[in-house]
Amino acid sequence: MHRNFSIAIDGPSGAGKSTIAKLCAEKLGFLYVDTGAIYRTVGVAAKKAGLDSKDEPGMTTLLPGIVITMCHDENGLQRMILNGEDVTEDIRLPEISIYASDVSAMPAVRSFLLEMQRRLAETNNVIMDGRDIGTVVLPNADLKIFLTAAPEERAQRRYDELLLRGVSTTYEEVLRDIQYRDMNDSMRSTSPLRPAEGAEILDTTGNTLEQSFDLVCSLIEEKLFQ
Ligand code: C5P
Repeated sequence: MHRNFSIAIDGPSGAGKSTIAKLCAEKLGFLYVDTGAIYRTVGVAAKKAGLDSKDEPGMTTLLPGIVITMCHDENGLQRMILNGEDVTEDIRLPEISIYASDVSAMPAVRSFLLEMQRRLAETNNVIMDGRDIGTVVLPNADLKIFLTAAPEERAQRRYDELLLRGVSTTYEEVLRDIQYRDMNDSMRSTSPLRPAEGAEILDTTGNTLEQSFDLVCSLIEEKLFQ
């Protein structure tokens, strides 16, 4: 029997990773794992505990008491459970984006979540998106993609998405948040955001979602099924 297939999609916030990965997972019958949601759940745990987002000693003390599980609902949405409580909606709040970005720079948080992510890939065919999937979590993935786009375009996409969800914010605020996270994610010393060796780099600036999805599908076809 063939070992499980794995596809890693990394890239900055708002590049379209999760939308494209979700569509590919549906098409292939693979499990989609949104690792950003897992980091966001740790961010919610920090906020609930009253910690500052940069409080590393506080976070290190908090981690052993955190139990994160995930499941998929009937619409295929990945639901995040933190110590028995469903926090799927909370993790999308703009303030939690900052918490997630700050706590994800802490080595203790990254190693806490590493095994969980690897275990999912050992037991399923997965398409996993994040920042360090191809570089650290699944360096032997069958296909590694680095999906990116200009910050202004990523901010516009994220802003439109938040508006649809009824979150009140401004384009400027979303752009600032994206720039803050780009810098944080690329400059941190543990698992910084960068293309993995052998990754296919796709710049989706100016593309429609369909165009980017088609590009990713042809890469999958080429690398996994030929
Ligand atoms: O992907 P998303 O924007 O939801 O991720 C939230 C934050 O979690 C990112 O800004 C990033 O700092 C962090 N993250 C990470 N490594 C991953 C996935 C997300 O550091 N594999």
